[in-house]
This record gives sequence, C-alpha cells and structure tokens, in this order.
Amino acid sequence: MSIAERAPASDAMEEELAAFRAEVLAWLEANSTRRSRDVNEFKRRMSATSQSQDRELEHVAACKAWQRRIYDAGYAGLNVPEEYGGQGRSSTEARVFQQEMARYEIDTGVFSVGLAMVVPTLLAHGTEEQKRQHVPALLKGEAVWCQLFSEPGAGSDLAGLTTRAVRDGDEWVVDGQKVWNSFAHIADWGILLARTDWDVPKHRGITYFLVDMTTPGVEARPLRQITGVAHFNETFLDGVRIPNANVLGDPNGGWGVAQTTLMAERMLIGGGGMGLGFRDYVELARHYGRTTDPLIRQRLAQAYTRFEILKWLGERARAAAKAGKPMGPESSVAKLVISDHVARNGDLVLAIEGAEGMLYSADAFEDGFWQQMFLGQWGIRIGGGTEQVQRNILGERVLGLPAESRPDKTDAFRDVPKNA
Ligand SMILES: Cc1cc2nc3c(=O)[nH]c(=O)nc-3n(C[C@H](O)[C@H](O)[C@H](O)COP(=O)(O)OP(=O)(O)OC[C@H]3O[C@@H](n4cnc5c(N)ncnc54)[C@H](O)[C@@H]3O)c2cc1C
Repeated sequence: MSIAERAPASDAMEEELAAFRAEVLAWLEANSTRRSRDVNEFKRRMSATSQSQDRELEHVAACKAWQRRIYDAGYAGLNVPEEYGGQGRSSTEARVFQQEMARYEIDTGVFSVGLAMVVPTLLAHGTEEQKRQHVPALLKGEAVWCQLFSEPGAGSDLAGLTTRAVRDGDEWVVDGQKVWNSFAHIADWGILLARTDWDVPKHRGITYFLVDMTTPGVEARPLRQITGVAHFNETFLDGVRIPNANVLGDPNGGWGVAQTTLMAERMLIGGGGMGLGFRDYVELARHYGRTTDPLIRQRLAQAYTRFEILKWLGERARAAAKAGKPMGPESSVAKLVISDHVARNGDLVLAIEGAEGMLYSADAFEDGFWQQMFLGQWGIRIGGGTEQVQRNILGERVLGLPAESRPDKTDAFRDVPKNA
C-alpha cells in the first residue's frame, strides 16, 4: 500500500487522538489544577527531607482517592481489556492520558509498581481467577503493591536469590529476606520471587508468587535513604504460608515471568525523569539570572537534546510494541539514557544554583526541592538495574561482545559459591 493510500486512515487516527486529548484535558481542567511554580504539591512533597507516618498515610489515602476518580471517569487501565476492568483502548491513548495527567496536581505514585509492573505481568501470565481478582482492584486504587525481588546477596545478580519456598500440601512456606522494597511498609500485596528447586541451574529453580502482605510472618522495616525519606524497606519472611493458587506462572518458571516485570520496570524508570520537563530547568536558570551565561546556556541546550532523545526513544519502543515486536534491549537503552540524564541534570541544577546549591531544606530555593532532585538521582540510576548491568546486557545482546564467563548459569544452584 502506498503512503498516499495510507494517509487518510492515519489522518483520521490523528484526528481521533486529538479529540481524545481534548476530552482528557477538559476532564483534567474540571477536576484538578495545572502544575505551576506557585501551586505545586509535587515540589512540596518531593522537597521533604523526612516524612511522618501521618503524612505518609495521608499521601496513600490521597493517591487512592485520585486513582478511584480516574477509574470512575473511565481513564484507568485505558489499554487493559474490559473484562478486567479496563477500557480496551490503545496504548497510545493510555500514553496521552499519562502525558496530560503529568501536567496536573494529581498523584497516584503509590500505585506505580502495581499499575506499571504488576498489571502487565498478571495480564501476560495470570490465570483467569488471578486476573479477575487483582487487576480491577488495582485499577480502582484499592490495593497498593510492592516488589519483593532483591535480596542482600542478590540485586544485579537477581537469579542468585536464596529466599526459599517449600511446598506443603496446598500451600508454600517461605523463609528469607528481601531488601530495597519500595512501598512494602504500606503495601497490601507483593510480587515475590523465591527459590523452589536448588538442584537445577539458578534461573530454572525460581517461582513467582503473589503474597498478601498481611499474612503472618511478613515484616517490612523501613530504610532511610540519602534524601532523608524512607520509601523502601527490608522485608523479612518467616514461615509465610502462601496458597498454591497464588503462584504466577508455573512452579520453577518464575524467571520467565519475572522478565515481563523487569522489562516493564525498566520502561517505567526509562520513561520517567523525576517528573520534570525541560521548561523547569529553564525556569530555574531564569530565577537565578543565569540564562545569559554561555556555559549554562550550553548545558541547557544539551539537556534539551537529552529530553528530545528520550522522547524519541520512547516513541521507538511504543512503535515496536504496537507492531507486536517483542521488547528487546530497548528497555536497557532507555534505562541507561535516563540514568545519564538524571546524573547530568543533577549537575546542571547545582551549576545553576552556584553557591546556593549548598543550602538544604527550608534554607534553599523551593524548600530544597532541587537538592532533593540531585540526591534522588542514585535511586533512579541503581533501581531497576544499574548502569553497569545495562551496559553488560547491551554489550552481550546487541553488540555481540563475548559474554562473561558464567559457570553459575549451568551448575546446580546448590553447588554455586554464594555471597556470605
Ligand atoms: C530507589 C530504589 C528502589 C528500589 N526498589 C526495589 C523494589 O521495589 N523491589 C526490589 O526488589 N528491589 C528494589 N530495588 C533494588 C534494585 O533493583 C537493586 O538495588 C539493583 O538491582 C542493584 O542491586 P544491588 O543494590 O544489590 O547492587 P549490587 O548488585 O551489589 O551491585 C553493586 C555494584 O556492582 C556493580 N555490578 C554488579 N554486578 C556487576 C556485573 N556483572 N558487571 C559489572 N558491574 C556489576 C553494580 O553496577 C553496582 O555498581 C530498588 C533500588 C533502589 C535504589
């Protein structure tokens, strides 16, 4: 088919999308406030250097209320099939809604793991019962989810995890320790990886579970980050009994299921950028009277280029997804580029602020929001897989460089030397 023949259809689609965007904007205008420098709940929250339990519970309640409003208005799970509570529309429409919502004072942050990582994993691997039990509840904002993957001895080398699950009748009994689990202290449900066979190579003896966080034996202890806020946890699992019906995918097939979650996680982080746009950096430079400084101008131009590259990387990934191509190393590229982006933006912010960059919290401009952005960069760079690990993936899978020698991939996990 020629381009000329295709054009009318694509024009019609563009028009339809523009109409949808206008409808979304009208709803947002009627229901929320556009983010501005004067009224900015996002900046107020992100500049916090500590968080009381009351304030945190208030935040969870606010996120739940927002997610419910979005659901009631018909904008939750736009690209999720209708039988699971979604709208059965396209991922392009879902992205338009996310793009526009990001410009408003709407926060659904505590659902990031659930909506962006758990929903696609459930849809791809869940049983009918699992999908019907969990997806609608997630879309309605009824359940906060956390990811119980990393362990003290298994982060980059996630398949080296040693939390064990042993089958006991219709249940599994889980013992072990997880770490860096965002939202675990406020979560209703968790996605959990545990070792169920020690006599096969490490990737083949892992099972993926859905765990009710109120089950006796689950204990999440908050860990304080460099920003002063404690949003993640170490989670202890002591004789935790999980029904067999809560295994996602096949027993010992958890590594394959986890790939869906991990890819979605890299896309989530790679598609982000601390909720800031290029305009925010220009406004900061204006506030400090630095927009005529040639060095700052040059760095702002570089930042603009990075924002554009990220936008087009996102488009490329979405086009591949739309064409039904399996997501390959694009998620690693996106994660790597966003890591570089947040690191350089952190440096740019401090260069713009100059000596004032040394101030902190209430003493600093916008209550230290920009200092918190600088300190928060490491969370983004490490979470979801470090830069070094993404480079390894790209080196081996895209550039075809020789792989690291990995006898632990073939030996029975029981015989592989472990971290202490
Ligand atoms: C903000 C934040 C939120 C997180 N949220 C969650 C969560 O909700 N749930 C969860 O399960 N986990 C979570 N994590 C954990 C995250 O996935 C791990 O921190 C990450 O995978 C790195 O593992 P690690 O911290 O054990 O570091 P390690 O794996 O110990 O790595 C230490 C250093 O060694 C380097 N390194 C390791 N292996 C290699 C290699 N083969 N080649 C070259 N260099 C290597 C790494 O790049 C890094 O610099 C979160 C982390 C952060 C920072």
